Amino acid sequence: MDIFRILSRGASLKKSKSVTTDYSLPSDTQVSSQKKKEESIKHQVDKETDFFHTKSHHSSEAKDDKIDREVAEGDKIPPPQISNQDEAALLRKANKSKVTGLDIPLPIGSFQDLTSRFQFEKKLLSNLIEAEFVEPTPIQCESIPIALNNRDLIACAPTGSGKTLAFLIPLIQAVLDSPKPSKLHGIRGLIISPTNELATQIFQNLEVISRSFLSSKKLNIAILSKQLANKLNNNIINSSKYDIIVSTPLRLIDIVKAGKIDLSKVEQLVIDEADKLFDHGFVEQTDDILSHCTNNSIRKSMFSATIPSSVEEMAQSIMRDPIRVIIGHKEAANNTIEQKLVFTGNEEGKLLAIRQMISDSEFKPPIIIFLQSITRAKALFHELLYDKLNVDVIHAERTPKQRDEVIKRFKKGDVWVLITTDVLARGVDFKGVNLVINYDVPQSAQAYVHRIGRTGRGGKVGKAVTFFTKEDSLAVKPILNVIKQSDNSNSTYSAWMEDLDKLTKNEKQKIKQHSVKRKQISTVPKVVKQKRKRREDMIEGSKRRKEEEAKAES
Ligand code: ADP
Ligand code: MG
Repeated sequence: MDIFRILSRGASLKKSKSVTTDYSLPSDTQVSSQKKKEESIKHQVDKETDFFHTKSHHSSEAKDDKIDREVAEGDKIPPPQISNQDEAALLRKANKSKVTGLDIPLPIGSFQDLTSRFQFEKKLLSNLIEAEFVEPTPIQCESIPIALNNRDLIACAPTGSGKTLAFLIPLIQAVLDSPKPSKLHGIRGLIISPTNELATQIFQNLEVISRSFLSSKKLNIAILSKQLANKLNNNIINSSKYDIIVSTPLRLIDIVKAGKIDLSKVEQLVIDEADKLFDHGFVEQTDDILSHCTNNSIRKSMFSATIPSSVEEMAQSIMRDPIRVIIGHKEAANNTIEQKLVFTGNEEGKLLAIRQMISDSEFKPPIIIFLQSITRAKALFHELLYDKLNVDVIHAERTPKQRDEVIKRFKKGDVWVLITTDVLARGVDFKGVNLVINYDVPQSAQAYVHRIGRTGRGGKVGKAVTFFTKEDSLAVKPILNVIKQSDNSNSTYSAWMEDLDKLTKNEKQKIKQHSVKRKQISTVPKVVKQKRKRREDMIEGSKRRKEEEAKAES
């Protein structure tokens, strides 16, 4: 079995044994029995993330015992073509997938399985193979046949496990299959995602796997960029010529309300990073979009690495008999990521910890560093500039062009350390990121899972280090639980951290609503900074003068 497929399976509940005391604080509290704690943590996490508690359906877990024995005996490997429930159960066991709902279709065991079971476009299959997507990942094995059977879907799979193709492949097929009475019939496929960066990335994936249909003009696709929005607004382009559109909610709803995009023909709706799009700040726009998708036969699907029960309830209200797929443990971090919690004492300790990592050769680029606010991201950027680390920064105050530019340079390797806020926490696929540093503790387990999911993608290994101070004693608890669930035996935290009590609902709310007030980032005294700045200005000024003199002479 392909290594990527093995690695992209979700994490299990086995707890890491390697508890270190590297950064431990002295503690008087006695550690209670390990087993009891494990049980209580498992219970707590299960409760927090209980995604499927609302309905009892048939479950693919029924045959688990039998399959356990077969897998243990090592005599049965799922075949590449899945033709019955026993083979399906074997594949699900191997993939750690749990599928619930009514009339669940069989998963696929290979992309070739699609052509034997469905009227699947051969050209779409060859586009996939040419792009080196040879074998489906676990989420793709389940989601594609569900979508091709025209079923609504709620899918939860780890970061970097191939969710994008899991929705794009059947979406393209469905749109190709649906009749188009005229060239200006209207948009039939719609994908919404929370950020421009992610929408762009989805669009690029869509371009790659539909390229033969684009060149033969069988498909017409677009990303709702600012330029396209302007053209639509000025009637330079008619949106009805597009078959599939990718957009962020805000831009889309503005154009829809201006009457320049009609969503009434949409047959396939994909909500990527669904929990984000149903969270405060987005939920109204998402709801607005849904209300404009008036086609009765619309199929809806939502994807994320984290789907809390509140979102599951909302999904219930807008979907028809959805099938739910979970790969691994819900809301778990990808198990290819080695996670570490580091107590830095105070704010100054964070910069010192980074410098310590540099001297211990632990600071291996490419690296992404997350902070809680734009101001703090800017401050760390200025601080690390002096360390000559090829740093750059992305946050919401930078223009889309600047953001694009930095991403390109980071992908090319010209930027080694990318400093950012939660604006880049979700979805963005930087293939080779070695290390994610949470300079500031994220405000929920979900935010943590997504942030660290920028590393360890597509089966690669990665490392995530989270700094915390005394002020973070509340916010760090959900993160500790995610680490405890991790199936990565190298993940570490200190024994005393286990004594942190579990969070009450109010405490969780408090963390979400108020970010911790922190001391300014800097280890360099102000006078030294001013001196440096004066020196840089002088060098810059003398360079400019020389250039002007050279120009005047020539
Ligand atoms: P997710 O949305 O689950 O976080 P992505 O869809 O961004 O993950 O995919 C992560 C990486 O895995 C991408 O680089 C993508 O090209 C790669 N990938 C996806 N599907 C496959 C596949 N079937 N075989 C090999 N690589 C894949
Ligand atoms: Mg994604």
